[in-house]
Amino acid sequence: MNSFKYKFSSEIEDEFLDNYFTKSLNTTRVAFLILAAMYSLFGYLDVLTAETFLKQFLQIRFLIVVPLLLFVFAISFTKAFNKFWQELLFFAYIVAATGVIVMIVQLPSDSLYSSGFMLIFFSGSTFIKLRYLYSSLAGWISIIIYNFLAISIFKNDIDIVLTNNFFFIGANFIGMFASFHMEISDRKNFDLLRQLEYKNSEIRDINLSLEAKVKDRTDSLMVKNIELNNEILQRNIIEKKLEKAKERAEQADKLKSTFLANMSHEIRTPMNGIIGFANLLTEAEDEDELNEFINIIVNSGEHLLNLINEIMDISKIEAGILKLEIQTFNINELTKEVNDMFEMNNDVIEKNLEFSYNNGKDHDFFISSDRMRLKQVLVNVVNNACKYTERGSVKFGYRISDDIIEFYVKDTGIGIPEEEQNFIFERFMQVTLSSNSVDERAGLGLAICKTYLKIMGGDIRVKSGLGNGSEFIFHIPLDIDDQQKQIDDNE
Ligand code: ADP
Repeated sequence: MNSFKYKFSSEIEDEFLDNYFTKSLNTTRVAFLILAAMYSLFGYLDVLTAETFLKQFLQIRFLIVVPLLLFVFAISFTKAFNKFWQELLFFAYIVAATGVIVMIVQLPSDSLYSSGFMLIFFSGSTFIKLRYLYSSLAGWISIIIYNFLAISIFKNDIDIVLTNNFFFIGANFIGMFASFHMEISDRKNFDLLRQLEYKNSEIRDINLSLEAKVKDRTDSLMVKNIELNNEILQRNIIEKKLEKAKERAEQADKLKSTFLANMSHEIRTPMNGIIGFANLLTEAEDEDELNEFINIIVNSGEHLLNLINEIMDISKIEAGILKLEIQTFNINELTKEVNDMFEMNNDVIEKNLEFSYNNGKDHDFFISSDRMRLKQVLVNVVNNACKYTERGSVKFGYRISDDIIEFYVKDTGIGIPEEEQNFIFERFMQVTLSSNSVDERAGLGLAICKTYLKIMGGDIRVKSGLGNGSEFIFHIPLDIDDQQKQIDDNE
């Protein structure tokens, strides 16, 4: 606000005037009703004092001023009132004042009407909400009208005119002073309210941005928290994996040492057999003994060869250079070959085992896989079944389900204790764990089988219990792509 002129810049000034109008409207309406009532009531004084001018005075009151005041009251309910209300009030002021002035100049010695004029000064500058500039101007114009009429037209006594002027000018000054201060305090209040609102909106903005910042921070903290939790989780998983890997590495290391120690023993046993009995060949007493020695040498040789083959396989697997040779073949032919092989098997014949097999398909059924290795797995598992079964039966076969071919080898042998079932497929495990070693094999067979099956995309498991026989079940996918994928992964 311009502190000298007490006027706002035009945009704010408009806002102030609007605000001033809204605040003043009701007061103005009430003021005009009261003024109309007072202007009418003072007509009673006319009846008492203004005998000759009674008619004229009453006409001024009831034909001009009171209707004008009521007209302003009525028009204050229209929308357009805001646009010219101050001018209208100004005009009503002048008209009401002129009405009284006409009465004063006609009855100059009657101080009643001068007092009425004073009331108009006071109500004009305070009551009816006329702004400072308009009320001052209206006051001065009324005084000029009075002087003009009193001196020039009605030739009143100059003493009375002078006395009246003292009062009128004094009253107008007091009115000006009052309306000036009212307007100034209105403007100050308005200005303070605006500043307050501005500060409030600033505080609101700051609050909003603070809230947004807090929300951002909370969000990013939450994200960080989740990330940290994930990281902790990952670390825990890695730690556990590392611990497991360490345990396995330590175990593998221990087992490898044991394996090596056992291997040298395993190899030495058939070697001693070969060399010892080869030396004895010349000393054989008869042909039977000679044949017996030769038999032992051949068996020991075969055993040694078998052992070396297994060690070779294990080395290839360990070095990761094992390659599958996929071909398409009739699975029923393969099962027959295995069956023929075991019908002549020593264990089967000596222990009089009931040996049989069952094909999942009666007709020729072709699959694609590494025939040699699949046969090696089947032979190995069937061989174990015959080896670890003292009496009863050994049955094997396969079934086709969905996209896999599943083999089973079921025996009525000694069975495997539950606690050992997890270990029999582990490399190097047999040698250390087996408590029921029937022969001198190295305990690599099932570990090799499992590795082959894994490479072919399959797996092996056992269902058994000590003394209840065992059933080994293994499968490979029928889809050649699944096998190939497994091979690629291994490479
Ligand atoms: P091994 O050369 O000793 O037969 P394998 O890896 O073929 O080695 O077998 C591991 C061990 O699993 C065997 O020593 C034996 O204790 C147990 N086992 C395997 N097959 C059978 C079975 N059909 N019945 C009972 N035990 C079995």
